[in-house]
Amino acid sequence: MEGTKPHAALLASPGMGHLIPVIELGKRLITHHGFQVTVFVVATEASPAQSLLLQQATTPHLPNLVSLPVVNDSILVDPEASVLEQLLSMIRGSLPRLRSAISAMKVPPTVLIVDMFGLEAFKIANEFEMLKYVYITSNARFLAFTTYLPVLDKLVETKYSDLQEPIRIPGCKPLWVEHVFEPVLDIKDEMYHAYLRMAVEITMADGVLVNTWENLEHPTLAAMRDDKLLGQIVKAPVYPVGPLTRPIEPTDSENGVLDWLGMQPSESVIFVSFGSGGTLSAKQTTELAWGLELSRQNFVWVIRPPMDDDAAAALFTSADGRDGIAEFLPDGFLKRTKKVGCVVPMWAPQAQILGHPSVGGFITHCGWNSTLESIVNGIPMIAWPLYAEQKMNAVMLAEELGVAIRPNVLPTKGVVGREEIATLVRRLMEDSEGNAIRAKVKELKYSAEKALSKGGSSYTSLSHVVMDCQRMSRSSQQPLDN
Ligand code: UDP
Repeated sequence: MEGTKPHAALLASPGMGHLIPVIELGKRLITHHGFQVTVFVVATEASPAQSLLLQQATTPHLPNLVSLPVVNDSILVDPEASVLEQLLSMIRGSLPRLRSAISAMKVPPTVLIVDMFGLEAFKIANEFEMLKYVYITSNARFLAFTTYLPVLDKLVETKYSDLQEPIRIPGCKPLWVEHVFEPVLDIKDEMYHAYLRMAVEITMADGVLVNTWENLEHPTLAAMRDDKLLGQIVKAPVYPVGPLTRPIEPTDSENGVLDWLGMQPSESVIFVSFGSGGTLSAKQTTELAWGLELSRQNFVWVIRPPMDDDAAAALFTSADGRDGIAEFLPDGFLKRTKKVGCVVPMWAPQAQILGHPSVGGFITHCGWNSTLESIVNGIPMIAWPLYAEQKMNAVMLAEELGVAIRPNVLPTKGVVGREEIATLVRRLMEDSEGNAIRAKVKELKYSAEKALSKGGSSYTSLSHVVMDCQRMSRSSQQPLDN
């Protein structure tokens, strides 16, 4: 029966924050919707964590994982290139291999699903007459903002920062410019134009999948279905299919942090982690260390060497850097907090940590995967955005959904002091305020579970995608002449 299954080719752009949700989508298409799936991964110098992820993913759940070497990576050695330029260049460099891999297949896949940075691959889907979908690994708000950018572009003459009023996007709460991610705000920046191009390319898709669910972002999703609002811009149907997050897999080997968590009381530990790329300045690292110590709460902290002028410095690094963390922590910190704290250098098994019953709070950079992992485990958050669309996410979590609290200053604009950090942590972990937030996030957890279960909104959404693909498989696919 293998031949009759629709075949989806998924392209994941570099970075754990893209790879993880794309792999989860692939697994779900196989396990819940009877698809055959090939996941193409743009081969970069893999960090130990990425190698482990790929190794764990290549199981009967996801048998076809293909690594695409990058053909021309000259931009990667350009020290001036932005993260986005590097990302787009790596993907561009992998497309010749994607094309040859697809043409070597007897029957091309029914559909090509790319994440937002892989939109250039749509031309390959066109060549092979495949359906083309984009998978937004962030939320509907981000999709709305991005697709609305060409409209905003006509309204803004010089700088977005000149805007005196918040930005109004259909289906979204008004958005203050200080919460929009920086590269998009400077119309002279090459990144701004790259986002504008992506906004247009999204409208070429046959469908748009988003890692969110109907109940979480109903007004925005409704605006996307409305032809008088965002529907006239996005054009293609939008399918909320989430939250797709990594399952909590049992670790066979002993793991220091999980073993340590096993000895702590229920919901007593605050977990501190800034995603796959986040780094703090030296001063902020010191303040955070003192803040955790002063809070007198149990903590697990994924710590990286400080970086003074790049909050996303670890995004594509393969550095392991396990040694020497004591150097950039206050004198005696590790010794004084030995009983209450567990410091993990560089990378920790986050999905398992957030799923551990001892964890009761999360200081997060509000990357969308981290946010979803927190919600599906019912963990309230302290929102500490650093880069990309995280400031928008932080506002949504704190002000709209009520599942997070925030520091008074934006961590991208100044240093959050130790006293404030200690107070935030205590408010979340000890106060009745924290309990109320915990109750709200648990409601979202149940709403997420419902959306994903058979007949739930996200399950049904993905079934529609499946039906499109099945129609396409039956009606138009012919073996290639090669
Ligand atoms: N992650 C992890 N261990 C770490 C840091 C991050 O497993 O020490 C995972 C995290 O669970 C999430 C992903 O990396 O699935 C980060 O994605 P997110 O969208 O939160 O942020 P990004 O890294 O893209 O900024």
